[in-house]
Amino acid sequence: MPHCKKAMKQLVIFSDLDGTLLDHDSYSWTAAKPALDRLKALNIPVVFNTSKTLSEVLPLQLDMGLDHPFNTHYFHGHPYKAIRRILQQFRDQYDFRFKGFGDCSHREIADFCGLSQEEASQAADRKASEPLIWEDSDKMLEKFEKQLAKESLHLTRGGRFYHVSGKGGKGSAAKKLFKHYLENFPGRKWLSVGLSDSFNDLPMLEVVDIPVLARSEKSQQPATKHLSDIKYTQSVVHALRQAQCERYGV
Ligand SMILES: [Mg+2]
Repeated sequence: MPHCKKAMKQLVIFSDLDGTLLDHDSYSWTAAKPALDRLKALNIPVVFNTSKTLSEVLPLQLDMGLDHPFNTHYFHGHPYKAIRRILQQFRDQYDFRFKGFGDCSHREIADFCGLSQEEASQAADRKASEPLIWEDSDKMLEKFEKQLAKESLHLTRGGRFYHVSGKGGKGSAAKKLFKHYLENFPGRKWLSVGLSDSFNDLPMLEVVDIPVLARSEKSQQPATKHLSDIKYTQSVVHALRQAQCERYGV
């Protein structure tokens, strides 16, 4: 592989969690371990960019042995209580049928997501976005989205839930986090990578130097463990190749 201008740059990876670094169904990160080990050895930071809560992200980071900064929904715009209040108003006013985490017990969240009670209570510890299951028609969903926009709220579709959140999101988070690296390590030439399994993360993928949309087993392939097992590693290898860096040994 020929040398390239980018070869002297230092990579930082911004990674979605659900369906990307974590298996869509089991939330396991076992399949990503070889890629994470490789990135650690290459001194490439893996920065979580996720709508998961702080309570969910901290134990995961500890488990993976990562200590880089991260973005969780905690840092997005609207406070959770304000979002819940607006959703309740909409429900009263327009009769929308949906079920948010705030409407569920921890037991119900555990059942929906296949989580333990403790994990469910971490998932329910929300600060600034509400996951919900839509139980109404597509037409009503369109109306719902329009009403949300009037309140400066966004609706995005994740692998399992819709998410209602304020402005900000993963694009501006990635920009801010990247700035952190530029400012704190000014001697290096940084190159940013974005990894996600969803078009919802387009705002993040648009602001990075190397965007990688991992294959979504939900939309394109039958959801087999095997496919999602190899997905993250493939994405990482693809990103390293895109960076065209011999020094990364790919
Ligand atoms: Mg995802």
